[in-house]
Amino acid sequence: MALVNEHFLKLQNSYLFADIAKQVNNFKATHPSDKIIRLGIGDVTLPLPEAVRAAMHKAVDDMGHKDTFRGYGPDQGYPFLIEAIIKNDYAARGITLEPDEVFVSDGAKCDTGNIGDILCRDNSIGVTDPVYPVYIDSNVMAGRTGIFEAGKWSDVVYIPCTAENHFVPDLPGRRVDILYLCYPNNPTGTTLKKDELKKWVNYALENDVIIMYDAAYEAYIQDPDVPHSIYEIKGAKKVAIEFRSFSKTAGFTGVRCGYSVVPKELNGFTLDGKSVSLNALWNRRFTTKFNGTGYITQRGAEAVYSPEGKQQVKALIDYYMTNAGIMREGLKKCGLDVFGGENAPYIWLKTPGGLSSWGFFERLLHEVKIVGTPGVGFGPSGEGYLRLTAFGDRAETLEALHRLNHTL
Ligand code: PLP
Repeated sequence: MALVNEHFLKLQNSYLFADIAKQVNNFKATHPSDKIIRLGIGDVTLPLPEAVRAAMHKAVDDMGHKDTFRGYGPDQGYPFLIEAIIKNDYAARGITLEPDEVFVSDGAKCDTGNIGDILCRDNSIGVTDPVYPVYIDSNVMAGRTGIFEAGKWSDVVYIPCTAENHFVPDLPGRRVDILYLCYPNNPTGTTLKKDELKKWVNYALENDVIIMYDAAYEAYIQDPDVPHSIYEIKGAKKVAIEFRSFSKTAGFTGVRCGYSVVPKELNGFTLDGKSVSLNALWNRRFTTKFNGTGYITQRGAEAVYSPEGKQQVKALIDYYMTNAGIMREGLKKCGLDVFGGENAPYIWLKTPGGLSSWGFFERLLHEVKIVGTPGVGFGPSGEGYLRLTAFGDRAETLEALHRLNHTL
Protein backbone atom coordinates (compact mmCIF):
# COMPACT_ATOMS: atom_id res chain seq x y z
CA MET A 1 0.00 0.00 0.00
CA ALA A 2 1.48 3.32 -1.05
CA LEU A 3 0.93 6.04 1.51
CA VAL A 4 0.47 9.59 0.34
CA ASN A 5 2.15 12.71 1.67
CA GLU A 6 -0.74 13.71 3.92
CA HIS A 7 0.57 17.23 4.26
CA PHE A 8 -0.90 17.80 0.78
CA LEU A 9 -4.33 17.12 2.25
CA LYS A 10 -3.90 20.09 4.59
CA LEU A 11 -3.48 22.53 1.68
CA GLN A 12 -6.25 25.10 1.64
CA ASN A 13 -7.84 25.25 -1.75
CA SER A 14 -7.09 28.65 -3.12
CA TYR A 15 -10.43 29.80 -4.36
CA LEU A 16 -9.17 33.31 -4.95
CA PHE A 17 -8.77 33.36 -8.72
CA ALA A 18 -11.56 30.80 -9.24
CA ASP A 19 -13.92 32.94 -7.16
CA ILE A 20 -12.90 36.05 -9.08
CA ALA A 21 -13.50 34.25 -12.40
CA LYS A 22 -16.90 33.05 -11.19
CA GLN A 23 -18.03 36.52 -10.19
CA VAL A 24 -16.71 38.04 -13.42
CA ASN A 25 -18.44 35.36 -15.53
CA ASN A 26 -21.74 35.88 -13.69
CA PHE A 27 -21.46 39.60 -14.26
CA LYS A 28 -20.69 39.09 -17.95
CA ALA A 29 -23.69 36.78 -18.35
CA THR A 30 -26.04 39.37 -16.85
CA HIS A 31 -24.39 42.42 -18.46
CA PRO A 32 -23.28 41.13 -21.89
CA SER A 33 -22.75 44.57 -23.42
CA ASP A 34 -20.59 45.97 -20.59
CA LYS A 35 -16.87 46.15 -21.27
CA ILE A 36 -14.92 44.79 -18.33
CA ILE A 37 -11.34 45.98 -17.75
CA ARG A 38 -9.09 43.47 -16.02
CA LEU A 39 -6.53 45.02 -13.72
CA GLY A 40 -6.21 41.96 -11.52
CA ILE A 41 -3.81 39.85 -13.51
CA GLY A 42 -0.21 39.37 -12.46
CA ASP A 43 0.94 38.55 -15.97
CA VAL A 44 2.71 40.73 -18.49
CA THR A 45 0.86 41.73 -21.66
CA LEU A 46 3.54 43.17 -23.97
CA PRO A 47 5.33 40.80 -26.39
CA LEU A 48 8.88 39.50 -26.06
CA PRO A 49 11.57 42.05 -26.96
CA GLU A 50 12.87 41.83 -30.51
CA ALA A 51 16.46 41.10 -29.34
CA VAL A 52 15.20 38.11 -27.34
CA ARG A 53 13.17 36.77 -30.26
CA ALA A 54 16.09 37.15 -32.66
CA ALA A 55 18.40 35.27 -30.27
CA MET A 56 15.82 32.51 -29.85
CA HIS A 57 15.36 32.20 -33.64
CA LYS A 58 19.09 31.89 -34.03
CA ALA A 59 19.19 29.29 -31.28
CA VAL A 60 16.49 27.30 -33.08
CA ASP A 61 18.76 27.32 -36.14
CA ASP A 62 21.69 26.18 -33.96
CA MET A 63 19.58 23.22 -32.98
CA GLY A 64 19.01 22.42 -36.65
CA HIS A 65 22.67 21.85 -37.55
CA LYS A 66 24.75 18.90 -36.50
CA ASP A 67 27.76 20.98 -35.46
CA THR A 68 25.79 23.53 -33.40
CA PHE A 69 23.09 21.21 -32.04
CA ARG A 70 22.90 21.01 -28.21
CA GLY A 71 21.54 18.10 -26.25
CA TYR A 72 21.59 18.07 -22.46
CA GLY A 73 23.30 21.21 -21.23
CA PRO A 74 24.85 21.85 -17.82
CA ASP A 75 22.08 21.33 -15.24
CA GLN A 76 22.94 24.65 -13.56
CA GLY A 77 22.82 26.67 -16.79
CA TYR A 78 25.13 27.50 -19.71
CA PRO A 79 28.24 29.53 -18.86
CA PHE A 80 27.24 32.18 -21.45
CA LEU A 81 24.09 33.03 -19.46
CA ILE A 82 25.66 32.70 -16.01
CA GLU A 83 28.48 35.04 -17.05
CA ALA A 84 25.99 37.59 -18.40
CA ILE A 85 23.97 37.40 -15.16
CA ILE A 86 27.03 37.89 -12.94
CA LYS A 87 28.42 40.71 -15.04
CA ASN A 88 25.19 42.69 -15.44
CA ASP A 89 23.07 41.93 -12.39
CA TYR A 90 25.84 41.70 -9.78
CA ALA A 91 29.33 42.91 -10.80
CA ALA A 92 27.73 46.13 -12.09
CA ARG A 93 26.52 46.72 -8.50
CA GLY A 94 29.83 45.84 -6.89
CA ILE A 95 28.82 42.28 -5.96
CA THR A 96 31.21 39.47 -6.80
CA LEU A 97 29.80 36.01 -7.44
CA GLU A 98 31.41 32.87 -8.75
CA PRO A 99 29.75 31.03 -11.62
CA ASP A 100 28.92 28.03 -9.44
CA GLU A 101 26.90 30.25 -7.09
CA VAL A 102 24.27 30.88 -9.82
CA PHE A 103 21.68 28.27 -10.81
CA VAL A 104 19.60 28.94 -13.93
CA SER A 105 16.08 27.50 -13.73
CA ASP A 106 12.66 27.58 -15.32
CA GLY A 107 11.46 30.36 -13.03
CA ALA A 108 11.30 31.78 -9.54
CA LYS A 109 8.08 29.98 -8.66
CA CYS A 110 9.83 26.61 -8.98
CA ASP A 111 12.93 27.81 -7.15
CA THR A 112 11.10 29.40 -4.22
CA GLY A 113 8.84 26.34 -4.06
CA ASN A 114 11.68 23.79 -4.29
CA ILE A 115 14.30 25.37 -2.05
CA GLY A 116 12.69 23.81 1.04
CA ASP A 117 13.86 20.37 -0.18
CA ILE A 118 17.33 21.06 1.20
CA LEU A 119 16.11 22.21 4.62
CA CYS A 120 14.93 20.20 7.60
CA ARG A 121 11.19 19.83 8.13
CA ASP A 122 11.52 21.13 11.68
CA ASN A 123 12.57 24.65 10.73
CA SER A 124 10.17 27.42 11.70
CA ILE A 125 8.98 29.71 8.93
CA GLY A 126 8.37 33.45 8.89
CA VAL A 127 6.59 35.35 6.12
CA THR A 128 5.61 38.94 5.63
CA ASP A 129 1.81 39.18 5.42
CA PRO A 130 0.22 39.59 2.83
CA VAL A 131 2.38 37.14 0.93
CA TYR A 132 3.01 35.42 -2.42
CA PRO A 133 1.15 32.14 -1.68
CA VAL A 134 3.89 29.79 -3.02
CA TYR A 135 6.05 30.33 0.08
CA ILE A 136 3.25 29.14 2.34
CA ASP A 137 1.91 26.26 0.27
CA SER A 138 5.31 24.73 -0.48
CA ASN A 139 5.98 24.66 3.27
CA VAL A 140 2.55 23.14 3.93
CA MET A 141 3.54 20.32 1.54
CA ALA A 142 6.74 19.82 3.51
CA GLY A 143 4.87 19.63 6.82
CA ARG A 144 6.37 22.78 8.34
CA THR A 145 3.28 24.89 8.88
CA GLY A 146 1.21 23.15 11.60
CA ILE A 147 -2.57 23.45 11.67
CA PHE A 148 -4.74 25.93 9.78
CA GLU A 149 -6.96 27.85 12.18
CA ALA A 150 -8.79 31.16 11.77
CA GLY A 151 -7.08 31.96 8.47
CA LYS A 152 -3.51 31.25 9.68
CA TRP A 153 -1.07 28.35 9.98
CA SER A 154 -0.17 27.70 13.61
CA ASP A 155 3.57 27.21 12.95
CA VAL A 156 4.03 30.13 10.55
CA VAL A 157 5.08 33.46 11.94
CA TYR A 158 3.09 36.12 10.07
CA ILE A 159 4.79 39.51 10.02
CA PRO A 160 2.13 42.10 9.15
CA CYS A 161 2.85 44.71 6.49
CA THR A 162 0.10 47.30 6.52
CA ALA A 163 -0.38 51.03 6.15
CA GLU A 164 0.03 51.29 9.95
CA ASN A 165 3.70 50.22 9.77
CA HIS A 166 4.19 51.80 6.32
CA PHE A 167 4.63 48.28 4.94
CA VAL A 168 7.98 47.96 6.70
CA PRO A 169 7.81 44.70 8.65
CA ASP A 170 8.90 44.59 12.31
CA LEU A 171 11.34 41.90 13.43
CA PRO A 172 9.36 38.81 14.43
CA GLY A 173 8.44 38.30 18.07
CA ARG A 174 8.94 34.53 17.76
CA ARG A 175 12.02 32.61 16.62
CA VAL A 176 12.10 31.86 12.89
CA ASP A 177 14.73 29.74 11.15
CA ILE A 178 13.71 30.58 7.60
CA LEU A 179 12.36 33.93 6.58
CA TYR A 180 10.81 34.80 3.22
CA LEU A 181 11.21 38.38 2.03
CA CYS A 182 9.95 39.55 -1.35
CA TYR A 183 11.03 43.01 -2.52
CA PRO A 184 9.72 44.79 -4.51
CA ASN A 185 6.73 43.12 -2.96
CA ASN A 186 3.93 41.18 -4.53
CA PRO A 187 1.15 42.01 -3.69
CA THR A 188 1.70 45.38 -1.96
CA GLY A 189 4.09 46.89 -4.53
CA THR A 190 6.15 48.34 -1.67
CA THR A 191 9.92 48.12 -1.13
CA LEU A 192 12.52 48.21 1.61
CA LYS A 193 15.21 50.87 1.62
CA LYS A 194 18.82 49.82 2.14
CA ASP A 195 18.86 50.56 5.87
CA GLU A 196 15.58 48.67 6.35
CA LEU A 197 16.91 45.61 4.58
CA LYS A 198 20.13 45.91 6.56
CA LYS A 199 18.10 45.49 9.75
CA TRP A 200 16.91 42.10 8.44
CA VAL A 201 20.34 40.95 7.31
CA ASN A 202 21.79 41.84 10.71
CA TYR A 203 18.93 40.06 12.46
CA ALA A 204 19.62 36.96 10.33
CA LEU A 205 23.36 37.15 11.05
CA GLU A 206 22.77 37.46 14.80
CA ASN A 207 20.14 34.72 14.98
CA ASP A 208 21.32 32.14 12.41
CA VAL A 209 18.29 32.75 10.19
CA ILE A 210 18.26 32.02 6.47
CA ILE A 211 16.55 34.65 4.32
CA MET A 212 14.85 33.56 1.10
CA TYR A 213 14.98 36.81 -0.84
CA ASP A 214 12.62 36.92 -3.81
CA ALA A 215 13.65 39.77 -6.12
CA ALA A 216 11.44 38.79 -9.07
CA TYR A 217 10.43 42.47 -9.53
CA GLU A 218 13.92 43.95 -9.15
CA ALA A 219 13.82 45.45 -12.66
CA TYR A 220 10.99 47.80 -11.61
CA ILE A 221 13.05 49.62 -8.98
CA GLN A 222 13.40 53.33 -9.76
CA ASP A 223 14.56 54.75 -6.42
CA PRO A 224 18.37 54.69 -5.96
CA ASP A 225 17.90 54.02 -2.23
CA VAL A 226 16.17 50.71 -2.85
CA PRO A 227 18.57 47.76 -3.13
CA HIS A 228 18.29 45.57 -6.23
CA SER A 229 19.98 42.63 -4.56
CA ILE A 230 20.16 41.59 -0.93
CA TYR A 231 23.89 41.11 -1.47
CA GLU A 232 24.25 44.90 -1.61
CA ILE A 233 24.02 44.59 2.19
CA LYS A 234 27.23 43.62 3.97
CA GLY A 235 27.17 40.09 5.35
CA ALA A 236 24.13 38.99 3.29
CA LYS A 237 26.06 36.26 1.50
CA LYS A 238 26.28 34.46 4.84
CA VAL A 239 22.51 34.44 5.35
CA ALA A 240 20.58 34.84 2.10
CA ILE A 241 19.52 32.98 -1.01
CA GLU A 242 18.30 35.28 -3.79
CA PHE A 243 15.73 34.43 -6.46
CA ARG A 244 15.40 36.28 -9.74
CA SER A 245 13.19 35.86 -12.77
CA PHE A 246 13.13 36.96 -16.39
CA SER A 247 9.31 36.72 -16.30
CA LYS A 248 8.37 40.24 -15.31
CA THR A 249 11.69 41.76 -16.38
CA ALA A 250 11.57 40.72 -20.01
CA GLY A 251 8.18 39.15 -20.71
CA PHE A 252 9.30 35.55 -20.03
CA THR A 253 6.18 34.40 -18.15
CA GLY A 254 5.40 32.01 -21.00
CA VAL A 255 9.03 31.28 -21.96
CA ARG A 256 10.16 30.35 -18.41
CA CYS A 257 13.57 31.32 -17.12
CA GLY A 258 14.86 32.50 -13.77
CA TYR A 259 17.76 31.84 -11.47
CA SER A 260 18.75 31.44 -7.84
CA VAL A 261 21.95 32.57 -6.16
CA VAL A 262 23.24 30.40 -3.34
CA PRO A 263 26.52 31.84 -2.06
CA LYS A 264 29.20 29.42 -0.96
CA GLU A 265 29.53 31.37 2.30
CA LEU A 266 26.02 30.34 3.29
CA ASN A 267 25.75 27.37 5.64
CA GLY A 268 23.03 25.40 7.33
CA PHE A 269 23.51 23.02 10.23
CA THR A 270 22.97 19.37 11.02
CA LEU A 271 21.18 18.41 14.24
CA ASP A 272 24.54 17.76 15.89
CA GLY A 273 25.71 21.26 14.97
CA LYS A 274 27.92 20.51 11.96
CA SER A 275 27.87 23.24 9.33
CA VAL A 276 26.88 22.26 5.78
CA SER A 277 27.18 24.26 2.53
CA LEU A 278 23.72 25.04 1.17
CA ASN A 279 25.32 25.68 -2.21
CA ALA A 280 26.49 22.05 -2.27
CA LEU A 281 23.03 20.77 -1.28
CA TRP A 282 21.19 22.94 -3.82
CA ASN A 283 23.66 21.86 -6.49
CA ARG A 284 23.00 18.24 -5.59
CA ARG A 285 19.25 18.77 -5.70
CA PHE A 286 19.53 20.57 -9.01
CA THR A 287 21.63 17.91 -10.69
CA THR A 288 19.39 15.13 -9.40
CA LYS A 289 15.96 16.60 -10.11
CA PHE A 290 16.51 19.09 -12.96
CA ASN A 291 18.01 18.68 -16.41
CA GLY A 292 18.62 22.33 -17.14
CA THR A 293 16.65 25.13 -18.77
CA GLY A 294 16.36 24.78 -22.55
CA TYR A 295 19.19 26.09 -24.74
CA ILE A 296 16.83 28.25 -26.81
CA THR A 297 15.39 29.84 -23.69
CA GLN A 298 18.82 30.52 -22.23
CA ARG A 299 19.95 32.18 -25.46
CA GLY A 300 16.82 34.36 -25.24
CA ALA A 301 17.67 35.26 -21.63
CA GLU A 302 21.26 36.06 -22.59
CA ALA A 303 19.95 38.55 -25.16
CA VAL A 304 18.22 40.49 -22.35
CA TYR A 305 21.74 41.70 -21.46
CA SER A 306 22.75 42.76 -24.99
CA PRO A 307 22.77 46.53 -25.66
CA GLU A 308 19.55 46.27 -27.74
CA GLY A 309 18.03 43.86 -25.23
CA LYS A 310 18.68 46.27 -22.38
CA GLN A 311 17.07 49.12 -24.28
CA GLN A 312 14.03 47.06 -25.23
CA VAL A 313 13.59 45.71 -21.72
CA LYS A 314 13.81 49.24 -20.35
CA ALA A 315 11.04 50.26 -22.76
CA LEU A 316 8.82 47.43 -21.43
CA ILE A 317 9.43 48.40 -17.82
CA ASP A 318 8.89 52.10 -18.65
CA TYR A 319 5.55 51.25 -20.25
CA TYR A 320 4.31 49.36 -17.19
CA MET A 321 5.73 51.91 -14.78
CA THR A 322 4.08 54.76 -16.71
CA ASN A 323 0.82 52.83 -16.27
CA ALA A 324 1.60 52.55 -12.57
CA GLY A 325 2.23 56.30 -12.31
CA ILE A 326 -1.01 57.10 -14.15
CA MET A 327 -2.89 54.71 -11.87
CA ARG A 328 -1.37 56.08 -8.66
CA GLU A 329 -2.21 59.68 -9.53
CA GLY A 330 -5.67 58.87 -10.88
CA LEU A 331 -6.61 56.72 -7.90
CA LYS A 332 -5.42 59.37 -5.46
CA LYS A 333 -7.59 61.92 -7.26
CA CYS A 334 -10.52 59.60 -6.61
CA GLY A 335 -9.78 60.01 -2.90
CA LEU A 336 -8.34 56.53 -2.41
CA ASP A 337 -5.35 55.65 -0.21
CA VAL A 338 -2.80 54.30 -2.66
CA PHE A 339 0.40 52.35 -1.89
CA GLY A 340 3.09 50.76 -4.05
CA GLY A 341 3.39 51.38 -7.76
CA GLU A 342 6.57 53.49 -7.48
CA ASN A 343 9.14 50.70 -7.68
CA ALA A 344 6.83 47.84 -8.61
CA PRO A 345 4.05 47.07 -11.10
CA TYR A 346 1.50 46.58 -8.29
CA ILE A 347 -0.80 49.13 -6.71
CA TRP A 348 -2.21 48.34 -3.29
CA LEU A 349 -5.39 50.21 -2.38
CA LYS A 350 -7.02 50.69 0.98
CA THR A 351 -10.67 49.89 0.49
CA PRO A 352 -12.82 53.00 1.05
CA GLY A 353 -15.45 53.35 3.78
CA GLY A 354 -14.26 50.31 5.70
CA LEU A 355 -15.37 47.90 2.96
CA SER A 356 -13.93 44.39 3.07
CA SER A 357 -11.58 43.32 0.28
CA TRP A 358 -14.36 41.33 -1.36
CA GLY A 359 -16.89 44.11 -0.77
CA PHE A 360 -14.70 46.57 -2.67
CA PHE A 361 -13.95 44.00 -5.37
CA GLU A 362 -17.71 43.61 -5.95
CA ARG A 363 -18.30 47.35 -5.95
CA LEU A 364 -15.57 47.85 -8.56
CA LEU A 365 -16.90 45.04 -10.71
CA HIS A 366 -20.55 46.08 -10.60
CA GLU A 367 -20.26 49.87 -10.61
CA VAL A 368 -17.04 50.48 -12.57
CA LYS A 369 -16.64 47.17 -14.47
CA ILE A 370 -13.06 46.83 -13.29
CA VAL A 371 -11.55 43.60 -11.99
CA GLY A 372 -8.99 43.81 -9.16
CA THR A 373 -7.71 41.17 -6.73
CA PRO A 374 -9.06 41.18 -3.15
CA GLY A 375 -6.11 41.71 -0.81
CA VAL A 376 -7.35 39.18 1.75
CA GLY A 377 -6.57 36.47 -0.82
CA PHE A 378 -2.86 37.05 -0.05
CA GLY A 379 -3.15 36.63 3.71
CA PRO A 380 -4.95 37.96 6.77
CA SER A 381 -3.19 41.35 6.75
CA GLY A 382 -4.46 41.87 3.19
CA GLU A 383 -8.04 42.28 4.46
CA GLY A 384 -9.28 45.79 3.72
CA TYR A 385 -7.01 46.14 0.67
CA LEU A 386 -7.24 45.40 -3.05
CA ARG A 387 -4.46 44.86 -5.61
CA LEU A 388 -4.44 46.40 -9.06
CA THR A 389 -1.68 45.72 -11.57
CA ALA A 390 0.04 48.00 -14.04
CA PHE A 391 0.48 45.22 -16.61
CA GLY A 392 -2.61 46.29 -18.56
CA ASP A 393 -2.95 47.99 -21.90
CA ARG A 394 -2.41 51.79 -21.67
CA ALA A 395 -5.73 52.75 -23.29
CA GLU A 396 -7.64 50.36 -21.01
CA THR A 397 -5.80 51.65 -17.96
CA LEU A 398 -6.76 55.22 -18.86
CA GLU A 399 -10.34 54.17 -19.53
CA ALA A 400 -10.46 52.41 -16.13
CA LEU A 401 -9.34 55.59 -14.36
CA HIS A 402 -11.80 57.69 -16.29
CA ARG A 403 -14.58 55.41 -15.14
CA LEU A 404 -13.36 55.40 -11.55
CA ASN A 405 -13.21 59.16 -11.53
CA HIS A 406 -16.84 59.33 -12.58
CA THR A 407 -18.09 56.67 -10.22
CA LEU A 408 -16.26 56.78 -6.88
N1 PLP B 1 7.87 35.47 -7.15
C1 PLP B 1 6.90 36.38 -7.06
C2 PLP B 1 6.87 37.27 -5.88
C3 PLP B 1 5.92 36.47 -8.04
O1 PLP B 1 4.94 37.37 -7.93
C4 PLP B 1 5.96 35.59 -9.13
C5 PLP B 1 4.94 35.63 -10.20
O2 PLP B 1 3.92 36.21 -10.15
C6 PLP B 1 6.98 34.67 -9.18
C7 PLP B 1 7.92 34.62 -8.19
C8 PLP B 1 7.02 33.67 -10.29
O3 PLP B 1 8.02 33.95 -11.17
P1 PLP B 1 8.32 32.97 -12.37
O4 PLP B 1 7.42 33.34 -13.50
O5 PLP B 1 9.77 33.21 -12.65
O6 PLP B 1 8.09 31.57 -11.90
